[in-house]
Amino acid sequence: MTDPSSKRKTVSNPYLHRLQTRHFLLFDVLPFFGVAAAVGFVWVHPVGATEMVLLVVMWVVTGLGISVGYHRLFTHRTFEASPLVQAALTIAGSMAGQGGMVSWVAIHRRHHECSDREGDPHSPNLSGDSFLGRVRGLAHSHFLWMRRHEYPNIAHYAPDLLKNRSLVKVARLYYYWVALGLMIPAIICGLAYQSWTGIVSGFLWGGLVRIFVLEHIIWAINSFLHMYGTRPYRSRENSRNGGIFALISFGESWHNNHHAFPESASFGLDWYRPDPGYWLIRTLAVLGLVRDVGLPTKERMQSKRTAA
Ligand SMILES: [Zn+2]
Ligand SMILES: [Zn+2]
Repeated sequence: MTDPSSKRKTVSNPYLHRLQTRHFLLFDVLPFFGVAAAVGFVWVHPVGATEMVLLVVMWVVTGLGISVGYHRLFTHRTFEASPLVQAALTIAGSMAGQGGMVSWVAIHRRHHECSDREGDPHSPNLSGDSFLGRVRGLAHSHFLWMRRHEYPNIAHYAPDLLKNRSLVKVARLYYYWVALGLMIPAIICGLAYQSWTGIVSGFLWGGLVRIFVLEHIIWAINSFLHMYGTRPYRSRENSRNGGIFALISFGESWHNNHHAFPESASFGLDWYRPDPGYWLIRTLAVLGLVRDVGLPTKERMQSKRTAA
């Protein structure tokens, strides 16, 4: 007999809600104060090139971990990767502080299943059409939904990942990877400046500011790009493309393309739409580290084109 809990799509209990609130305060609220502290700390320790390099490098590593690892590989299975690449992408994505990999996948698969309808964990379009409703919808979809939400059952939404025991072991160490992502810039900066103020400055800029910058970019895909932007392809929800954010979002801002062709490893789809996440996948494929990179056929793309 199958376990009835694997059939339940969402779970909701006080323990899970406590975990959600804790995560929200630690990784969604704290980085905001981290940015304020980083700016204030400039008077104690002027910011140098070391902090800026650490901020950019850590932002790129963790951003690609989310886009290529959490999203394109684990959620949508748009390519196959060696166990080492899978582990590396899990660790890089975990360091972003946006939740453990398996939970993230379950939440995102539910987003695709229920996009902009009842059950979507973060739609901006379910709070009414008035001005106030739209503002409320944007705030909800951008980050307020994370305070407390129905938790998609991982047994239902991510059974493929749960079968991969060694990967689950790596993903379970989520909080350690987040801590590592904060320690690396702190240690490098401390060594570079040979001072404790260097450690603090590295922790703030390469750690908390970096988390803050990346999370708002990723959240903007859920909020603004389900409301504003272009729709070159037909899809049943209100997803949009935001081309000017393509580079800083690692290609994630081709969100309408992605909803129309979730099986595609490329979100840009055409060479003239920059997609850094796909560039990494192509590079890994050339190196023989990933294979079976999924792309939609020209006919399928043509069949979904809107008149615009
Ligand atoms: Zn997706
Ligand atoms: Zn979406």
